[in-house]
Amino acid sequence: MSPTTRRSFLALAGGSAVALSMNPEPSNAKQLPGQPPSKNSGGQDKSFSNVMAIAAHPGDAFFAMGAPVAVARHFGGQGSLLSLSLGEKGSPTIPAEQYGASQREAAQKAAALIGAKALFLQYPDGEIPINEEAKFAVCDLIRQYKPLTIVTHWKGSWHKDHRACYDIVEDAIFYAGLPGIVRKEPAHGVRKLFYADNWEDATGFTADTYLDITAVCDGWLNACSAFPMWHGETGFRYNDYYGSLAVERGCLSNFKRAVALMSSAEQRVQHIRTP
Ligand SMILES: [Zn+2]
Repeated sequence: MSPTTRRSFLALAGGSAVALSMNPEPSNAKQLPGQPPSKNSGGQDKSFSNVMAIAAHPGDAFFAMGAPVAVARHFGGQGSLLSLSLGEKGSPTIPAEQYGASQREAAQKAAALIGAKALFLQYPDGEIPINEEAKFAVCDLIRQYKPLTIVTHWKGSWHKDHRACYDIVEDAIFYAGLPGIVRKEPAHGVRKLFYADNWEDATGFTADTYLDITAVCDGWLNACSAFPMWHGETGFRYNDYYGSLAVERGCLSNFKRAVALMSSAEQRVQHIRTP
């Protein structure tokens, strides 16, 4: 059975969120007594067969956005992780040039472990510019890799690079989809845009989608351990945070392991036809 035909989408027990699974085995998810009904996507969707993570820094791409990319690859699809900078100023002790090189190396190693592609644009860490050049650079990579789903930063972040990434991606998707904008590659329409559950982007973040990552969780966490800051070396215990978050999000969605995503505003609109 092909990855697309065996994909199943499962009703979520709780809230107005939707639960997505690429796993061919049906879930035993049940609505709890008295719980409000949840939204059901009600059919197959190929959007997770080509996923691109677009992050300000390589750590964000892999820790907060890497699991959906790993899901795409695991079930036979395509996956890429684009970092707008190398995050080279992220170490309090290691010089930027040296740290940037180790970040690039870690991203390439981690991408290989989940079978995905690591992509880089080398804007200066902490100074990612919101300009047309950056938006078209991202547009060109979207047209080249043709993701159906993009996962990126939510704008409610204390980190200016993360907010810049949000703005750049929004316009890059717009440019990528416009046939009238002539670039090397033809126009490509991205179907879905999700924001990642990132500890630094928590202001106003509301999960509305849970993705089953049970099949890839161990491999994804192992890939993340390629990074020099994964175990708290720069001050934040990413391994404990994102490892336990996958368990907590799994509890809420009735998957063993899950990541929470937030849909773009346009994507949350539903069209309900009456008889
Ligand atoms: Zn970051």
